[in-house]
Amino acid sequence: MPSIQAKIVGDFCNLRCTYCRDRDFDQGRVRVMSGETLSVLIRAVSALPQSVLRMHWLGGEPTLAGLDFFREVVRLQALCSGGNWRNTIQTNATLITSDWARFFKAHNFKVGVSIDGTQETHDLDRVNLSDKGSYRQAMQGVAVLRDAEVNPSVICVITRRNVGLGAQMLRSLVNNGFTNISFNAFYNTATDPSRDDYAVSDSEWTQFLKDVFEEWVRIDRPDVKVREIDQMLAWTQGKIAKSCVFRGTCSSWLLVDHDGAVYPCERLGRPTSFGNVRDSSFTEMLKGSRYREFAFRTREVPNKCQKCEMKNFCHNGCVAHRTDDGDSAPHYVYCGSRLAFHKLLQNSVGTLGSLASHTERG
Ligand code: SF4
Ligand code: SF4
Repeated sequence: MPSIQAKIVGDFCNLRCTYCRDRDFDQGRVRVMSGETLSVLIRAVSALPQSVLRMHWLGGEPTLAGLDFFREVVRLQALCSGGNWRNTIQTNATLITSDWARFFKAHNFKVGVSIDGTQETHDLDRVNLSDKGSYRQAMQGVAVLRDAEVNPSVICVITRRNVGLGAQMLRSLVNNGFTNISFNAFYNTATDPSRDDYAVSDSEWTQFLKDVFEEWVRIDRPDVKVREIDQMLAWTQGKIAKSCVFRGTCSSWLLVDHDGAVYPCERLGRPTSFGNVRDSSFTEMLKGSRYREFAFRTREVPNKCQKCEMKNFCHNGCVAHRTDDGDSAPHYVYCGSRLAFHKLLQNSVGTLGSLASHTERG
């Protein structure tokens, strides 16, 4: 059964990152999930037939919903008897105060922050309303979190503007105390062609992964986990990757928008909606024809993947990052980099002998 992502602040943020499609939306008012929809959502999640109830809070910038919103979250969760709740939040960290940090610590929230590598690369794209870089403000938020003993993970967006700086970005993140690092290649052309200039090509992503891997080996810190390396290493050890982009389905998540609309993932957006949590339960939606048709489509793989030695690991990649290249079904745009990165790891088998024990996640 899926984990639930709740996009509680709809298409609204206090930053205006250059690559973000939300930047162009009407941001005249903050659209926050209503108390009524939140209550319905928590009840719907608690009804899922699973012992651990995972909720991931995001926006826009989710902290714009306010601390009282999250106090209500934990209050409602506590009312659902028997629920083993696990909360995570993804924030740009610029609005984090000691009150937020203490709240996250007290309620055991896992926190992910968005920092795009070095100050220079971050400030190039992650700008505020005045077009000024937000690095200092974000790192101040990170410091406040750490003061409260909350150790955030980090997501770093890779665009065509910073893709050549993988090694520097990784080193900067590690030097700044991050040990749980994920890189997301920017590829958004399916939903927003105006952002094409930022999209990373397969060959650029291949070189980026190579640069990051080599730097990770140089850094030689067993405690530093880089998702892209971790997932591939896990596979070489016969483990199952956790990340949906290595599973080839979107079944790991359901995303609930601020108005209750349910769809698979932010990358695919509202056109793939399965219904509204105010009208039907998750179980009903997952049994419905819209979900089944969607799930069927995500499992389609082109001929090239059928014959590929990596098919049971790669599964044709992220569903949102597939395009028609003339094969029998839409094909993963970063196919080349998956194959090349796998080959690189195989060729580094001597090095990997000592590094393999570094990875614990499967
Ligand atoms: S579209 Fe991609 S990122 Fe989103 S849930 Fe599906 S596989 Fe994961
Ligand atoms: S590496 Fe390429 S061919 Fe192989 S399964 Fe992945 S997308 Fe398909």
